[in-house]
Order: sequence, then C-alpha cells, then structure tokens
Amino acid sequence: MSLEGTILRIERSSIHDGEGLRTVIFLKGCPLRCAWCSTPEGQAEEIESAGGKTYGSVMTVDELMTEVVKDEVFFFHSSGGITFSGGEPLQQADFVAEVLRRTQMLGINTAMESSLCFPFSELEKVLPHLNILFADLKHIDSERHRDLVGTDNRFIMDNIRRVAAADYPLELIVRIPLIPGVNDDDETMHKMGEFLGSLRNLSSVELLPYHRLGVSTYNNLGMDYRLPDIKVPSSSHMKTRREIISSYVEAVQ
Ligand code: SF4
Repeated sequence: MSLEGTILRIERSSIHDGEGLRTVIFLKGCPLRCAWCSTPEGQAEEIESAGGKTYGSVMTVDELMTEVVKDEVFFFHSSGGITFSGGEPLQQADFVAEVLRRTQMLGINTAMESSLCFPFSELEKVLPHLNILFADLKHIDSERHRDLVGTDNRFIMDNIRRVAAADYPLELIVRIPLIPGVNDDDETMHKMGEFLGSLRNLSSVELLPYHRLGVSTYNNLGMDYRLPDIKVPSSSHMKTRREIISSYVEAVQ
C-alpha cells in the first residue's frame, strides 16, 4: 500500500528554495512554535478548517508523484526540482523519503527545508535522497531557543554538525531567519558565525529577513501572533549582519 502524507499545499514555479523552477510541497505538522512563524496553518498535523478555508489534505505517494511529474518539463529546462517545506518535513520522514527517492530516480533535483529538530535517525531516512538540504538555525543559545520556539536546539546543532562532518552528496545550506531584537545582536551573530565557520561541508549561509506574511492567517485560525511590534529589518541592517557571518564563512547571501 502506498504511504500517505498530510499536505498543506503545493506551490509551483517558485524561484526560491533551490536551483531553477521549484515545485514546493508544504507539509502539515511541526513540533516547534516559532514566535515569528509565517505558516501557522502548517503547525498542526491534522487538517484544519476555519473562516471558510480548509488547510491540508491527505495524499498517497502515488498521488503526490502524479503532481510532481506534471512539472517535469519545467524542471528539465530550468535545472529545477521539488522542495519539501512545512510545517516540518521530518515529522513525516518515511513519506518524504519515499517521494524524494522516486523523484531522484526520475532524474529530478530534490531539496528539503527543515528545522532539523528531530533525532538523527529520522533525518537519516531522507539524506540519501536529497540534493540540497536547507537547515534552519534560529538561535545559537539553547535556552533562548527554548523561549522562542518551545524546545532547546540540541537536535538541531547536532544534526547540522553530523551532516557537515559526513560526505553525503548534497549541498548543505544553513538559513538564519533574522528577527530584529530576537537573534540579530552582534554577540549572537558572532557565535553563529563561529559555529558555522567550524563546519567542514557547508555550502553557504543565507540570512532571511523577518517578514510579516502569514499574520492574517493567525487571525483566521484564532491564534495569537506573539511578535506584533517587530519591524522588518532594513537592507543596511541585513548588510551589517551578513558582514559578521562573512568573517567566518565564505559564501553568505
Ligand atoms: S519550524 Fe517553521 S513551520 Fe515550524 S513553527 Fe517554526 S517557522 Fe513555523
């Protein structure tokens, strides 16, 4: 029987989240509760309905593969592929691994964006089938991490170290969501830079500016948005933050 997964939505022709044109598959379910989360409708694994909208649907691997191959021609012309995002793909690691495996067998590039907040045994299921792993690093201080997202960062740091120390045939790209007043002070940036600079197989680091997309979904789902007063960082602030990380890591975007 084909494995089943709970999908939030599928977005086609994205130019973010990997090379070329991407079909991004957002999954339901995430163990974290980031204060700045822009996809609150991806947090619960169960399908939700609110304000006339339904968030999520169940699909088998076969059904999802039917959706993936619809974009095959775009993938081949743009060197693109699929990207799993969330929610948190590792919450459905067996399902994701099987879709990635079958996608790679078709010669299509694969990527996954993950918080990596799971035991390595779950991550290990998907690693052989990935071309690109985007790993989110939200805060370097474990206690602060717990305050902000609900769990400490031990799994995340350990998983990033283990992937970077091994020789998986994939690009490891670490993404830092830059949240003003939360994780963007000089000391935190230098500590993140030191950690990232110590990694052997790190392809690049991306600093992603805080944004307020998704705030209206909180209202729709009756959830509180915990950072109502934070402003989007300026481009000059982003530049100085990138400069700090660049003093430890060669490729920073
Ligand atoms: S890890 Fe991603 S999906 Fe999960 S709560 Fe944080 S921002 Fe939202």
